[in-house]
Formats: sequence, C-alpha cells, structure tokens
Amino acid sequence: MTAAELQAFVDALPVAAVIMHDRRILACNRHLADLAAVPLDELLATEDPIERFVAPEDQPVVLGRIAARARGDQVPAELDYVGIGGNGERIPSRAHVAPFPSAGEHAVLVVITHEGLRARSASLIRGFIDVAVAAQRESTQAGILRVAREGLERLGLSATLCELGPGCFRVVEAGSGNPFIAQIQQRWPDWIPDSAFPMPRSSTEGTLIPDLPAVLAAGFGRARDAFLGAPPAAMVTSIPIDGVPTFLISCSGSDLDVTIANAFGLLGKQLGAALETVRRLEELDRRNSELRAQAEEMTLLNDVARRVAGSFEVGPLLELGGETLRRLLDADRWVVLLPDPREPALRFHARAPEGASLGLGEESVAMAAFRERRVVQVLDPPTPARSAAAPRTRLAVPLIARDEVLGVALILDEHARSFTRAEMDRALSVAGQLALALLSARLYEALRSSYAELARAQNELIDRERLAALGELSASIAHEVRNPLGVIFNSVGSLRRIVKPQGDAALLLDIIGEEADRLNRMVGDLLDYSRPVQPALQPVPLRPLFEEAIESARQQTGDGAKRVAVTVRVAEDAATVRADARLLRQALVNLFLNAYQAMPRTGRLEVRASRSTIDSRPFAEIVVQDSGPGIPPDMVDKIFKPFFTTKATGTGLGLAVVRRIVENHGGTIELGRLRPGAEFRLRLPLEAQASSS
Ligand code: ADP
Repeated sequence: MTAAELQAFVDALPVAAVIMHDRRILACNRHLADLAAVPLDELLATEDPIERFVAPEDQPVVLGRIAARARGDQVPAELDYVGIGGNGERIPSRAHVAPFPSAGEHAVLVVITHEGLRARSASLIRGFIDVAVAAQRESTQAGILRVAREGLERLGLSATLCELGPGCFRVVEAGSGNPFIAQIQQRWPDWIPDSAFPMPRSSTEGTLIPDLPAVLAAGFGRARDAFLGAPPAAMVTSIPIDGVPTFLISCSGSDLDVTIANAFGLLGKQLGAALETVRRLEELDRRNSELRAQAEEMTLLNDVARRVAGSFEVGPLLELGGETLRRLLDADRWVVLLPDPREPALRFHARAPEGASLGLGEESVAMAAFRERRVVQVLDPPTPARSAAAPRTRLAVPLIARDEVLGVALILDEHARSFTRAEMDRALSVAGQLALALLSARLYEALRSSYAELARAQNELIDRERLAALGELSASIAHEVRNPLGVIFNSVGSLRRIVKPQGDAALLLDIIGEEADRLNRMVGDLLDYSRPVQPALQPVPLRPLFEEAIESARQQTGDGAKRVAVTVRVAEDAATVRADARLLRQALVNLFLNAYQAMPRTGRLEVRASRSTIDSRPFAEIVVQDSGPGIPPDMVDKIFKPFFTTKATGTGLGLAVVRRIVENHGGTIELGRLRPGAEFRLRLPLEAQASSS
C-alpha cells in the first residue's frame, strides 16, 4: 500500500487510529489528532510518537506489546495506558493493537479509544433512555418533541428538530449549540432540499456524521475552513410514525461515535412509538367526543319529538319548542313567529312567550329565514341608541315541515357570539320536529272545529225538525183545544149570568175560569214558540218599547209587581234598534215577567241599553237585571230549553221564545251574572242611522 492509500484507509475509520512501523507513524487520522489535541500535520511529523504521547511509566509496556503483536506473538490485543495530550493532559486510554502487514513487515494498526469518552457514551446512552421514558409520559405531540429536545440539550447535545416533507425538510426547532443552523435558515427560510444536505431520512438507524464542518461546507458550496466553528460531529435519526419517517432529529457535539449514534437511532424509534400512541389516543378522543355529541343530540331530538308529539295545543307546543331551542343554544330569549293568516307573507304574530315583542330589525331577520328557508344569523346588529339591552346575536331558524315553512323561531342573546354550523344544524332539526308537531296540531284543531261545526249543525237540524213537528202538533192541539175552550168560557159566562152563584159555587166557577185561562195561555205560548218567526224589521226606539213591555208584564203579574222599583236607562247612541216591534215586545215581556215572578214581594228591576261593537258592527247591548234569587249554576244549560220550568203554573216556553226571537233578529242572548239576582244580556243590531248619530 502506498502512503496515500494508508492515509485514506485510516481517514475512513470512525475512530482514532494510527498505522505504525518501527516506532514511526505511517498514517493517522483526524480522530486521533482530536483525541491528542494536536494538529494532524504535527502528529504525522512526530519523530517518536510513543515517547511524546505515552506517559513515561507506560512506554515500555506499550512498546513491548506493539513489538509482540507485530511479531504475531500470542499476547492480548488490548492494553490500557495513560496518554499525554498536546497540552500535557493525561488521557486514560485503551489501545487495540493488530498486525498490519499491508503496511510492511512488523507494521501495526493501533485503534485508540479515550476511556473517559467510553464513560461519556455510557452516560449518553443512559440519558437517551431517560429522554425516551420522559417522552412516553407526555400526552401531546408538541409535549413529546419538547421533552425530547430539552432532554438532549441537558445531555450537552445541541438538538435540532426537523419536519420531513417530500424531498425536503425544514427546521421546526433549532438546537442552541450550532451557530450554523441560523445560517441554514437564512439561506433556506422554509423548506430545505434534501440535495443540499443529504438526510438519511429512510434509515431507521442513527447515522453518525463524523465531520460536520465538511457536510456544512458541501451544503453551502464553500471551503470546510469556513465551518470550523461548528461542532466537530453530529448524528441524525428519523422519527417514524406508523412506519413513515415524519420528523428528523439531529444532535451535534464532540466525542460522538457510532455506538452513541446507534443508541440515538433507538431513541428516534421510541419517540416515534410515543407519537403514534398520542395520535391514536387523540383520534380515539375525537371519535369519542363526536359520538358523545351525536348521542346527546339524539337524546335531545328524541326528547323533543316525544314531548311535542303528545301536544295538540299550539300554544304549549310553541312554548315547549321555543324553550328547547333556547336551552339547546344556551341563549337568553326566544320568540316564535307565525305568519298572519290574513296577510300571509308579510306580517308575523309574535306568539310566545307571553308578552314577547319584536325589536328593531328582528322581524326582517325572521323574514329572511322564512323566505330563504335557511338559518339566518346576525351578529351585533346596529343598536338603537335608546335600547342598550337590545340582543347582540340573533338566530332565526325556520320551522319547516313537509316542505312548508310554518314560521320562524328567533333565538336572541345579549352577548355577541357566533353559533357553529353544528349548532345551527341541530337547531334546524329541533325546529323541524316542532314544525311537524305544529302541523299535526293545526290538523287537530281544524278537525276539532269541523266536528264542533258538525255537531252544531246537527243540533240545529234536530231543533228545527223538532220545532216543525211541534208546530204541526200545536196547530192541531190549538184547533182541538181552542174550540172546547171557547165553549167553556161561554158556558162559564152564561152560568154566572143565569145562576148568579155565591159561596162555593162562585169559587168553583172561578177555578174553572182560571184553569181554562191557563190552558188558553199555554196553547198561545205553544203557538208562539212553534210558529215560524219572520221579523218585519224597521227602526224601533227602545225606551218606549221597554216601558210598554214593563207595563204589560206588571199587569200580568198583579199586586206583587207594585213593590218592585224599576229603572230604565238607554244610551243616546243605542236608542234605536232594527227590529220587529211586536216580536221584540213579546220577548221583553217574557223577560220582565220572569223578573217580576222572581221578586214576588219586593225588589229592583234594572233595564239598560248601551252601544257596543263586534267585528266593527254596531250593536245595542241590552241588560235586564233583577234582585231576585238568581239562577242556580246547574240550571244555566237548561233555562233556554223549551218546557223547562221550575214554576207550578209555568209552561217553560218563555225563555225559549225569547231566544228564538232574538236570534231571528241576528242577535244573541246569554246569561250575565247568575247571582245575586239574574242578569240577561241581549245584543241586537242597531239601526244604521241611529247608530251614526
Ligand atoms: P217559565 O217562566 O214558564 O218557567 P221560562 O222559560 O220563562 O219558563 O223560564 C224557565 C225557568 O228559568 C223558570 O222556571 C225559572 O226557573 C228560570 N228563570 C227565568 N228567569 C228567571 C229570573 N229572572 N230569576 C230566576 N229564575 C229565572
């Protein structure tokens, strides 16, 4: 081998090595120069290296061992001795001596390790284990990488963390002890091409970079001398996650060797495993919370569906739906708006909660949601100067069921906040449930009112048929009864004239007369009730009609009526009704008769008429009040029915006739207060001219 070949051979070795022949150095490498702290040239030129670099007491042993190994004697290859560094420092060393005949007979290759360095690699390896253990305890990726870097720095290594991209990498965090990292970052501010610094990215072993200045020089395209300030060596390993090299961690320092680099590679793998665990845990956690949110949503929807489905009343339904939405979104207030059926697309009823009113601009938000059929969110709307408490966040959720928008739920919050997409979607599905329930409630209400309508029509029909039958019956009874009654009246009159009865006979004749009279009245009432009423309408002044009817009732009642105080009050704007005077008089007489009969000894009868308006039509509201015993509540439903009476000589037709007459005038009659004393309230259409005066 030539001198150059020998030199190249030792240069390629990663450890301190020297080839000697006859106490002279044939070739030695940089690592040895570093170990001895002497420039390489000086080392190569040293005359007697054993004398110069081995402690005097160890020189004979070293010389003896080299000579024996060169001869091929059976002596141990390794020996320990104390070396002397260029600066006179004593270096505990171990030499491995091997015959090296290629360099000449009796030539030897001596590989030298610094025993202090051996202790350092052991402590570094222990340090790596500590770093790996600490990283396992971290629960986030950032935590693991931070712990690893800090741990390595504590071991005296400058650790740089890089992220790997396709064909490139970039520094995530630079180590503190390599001044050239800053230069690298300056030259390649973001991604660094692999071509600049070939990175052993796919190797899962740690890689030693024995000559860091040389690598830096190649990367920057400059002389090695320019990088002598860099640490002499470095080691690199990739951190694989799920088999994919994801990060690169490098450490620079002095005294690094292959063993340390291998251990460093193991640390890379352990960090990768810790990162995998964290990623898996994070994924599980994310899936868990997704599932939890889904479960919560389902529970809520179920709950709402269950509760709204059972409610058929629109009011409570809106209350439930609005409150659920408010709770779901954790907002301050809610208002549900339904389109006004009279002006479908333009106006809303604020339906709930009680007393809710719409603020400035709220209707337009709701309107947008209504028209566009989507959730509309308005943050921080302009607040009118006076109302400081105006909501700062408004969310309008359309109530959509079977493709129809039934209304809008408006959710208001005093704070400025932004609802997430997920929250809005959830609100929309709750609103959908509410809309479906509303639809059923509407259907139910329509059904109920049509049933009521049907029942009313049926009752009317029955009443009318009954009346027609009654009419026929009473006409024939009247015919059959009135003729014999006429005969009885005539006969009683004749008897009185002829016999001039006295005492018991006169009394008996009176009884016959009274009972015949009662029969006659009954027949009259029956005819009144069953005869079709066809009022001939004309303006009728109320006051004279009241007075006539009171007078007539008083005469029919007899003496008792004299002790009843009567007051009549007619408001000027209710003075004239449009009615059939004869029929209305008959109805009033019946009412007053009842009043007088209810107050046999004494009492007060009060009759008032005033004006009222229903659906913009003017009515005379007539109140007839007495101070009698009043009407027991259980009789309220019965007193207007024909033949209901509590009186010994009553026919039970008086109030039935009153109601028929009033209703045939397009009016109504109902009981007002029941006690003390009865109160009847009649409404009759006012005469148009009179009402305008
Ligand atoms: P009648 O007078 O023949 O009994 P009505 O139809 O006029 O028939 O009255 C029915 C019933 O209503 C009466 O029997 C009575 O019990 C009750 N009633 C009517 N008006 C009054 C009143 N002013 N005070 C108390 N009860 C009344």
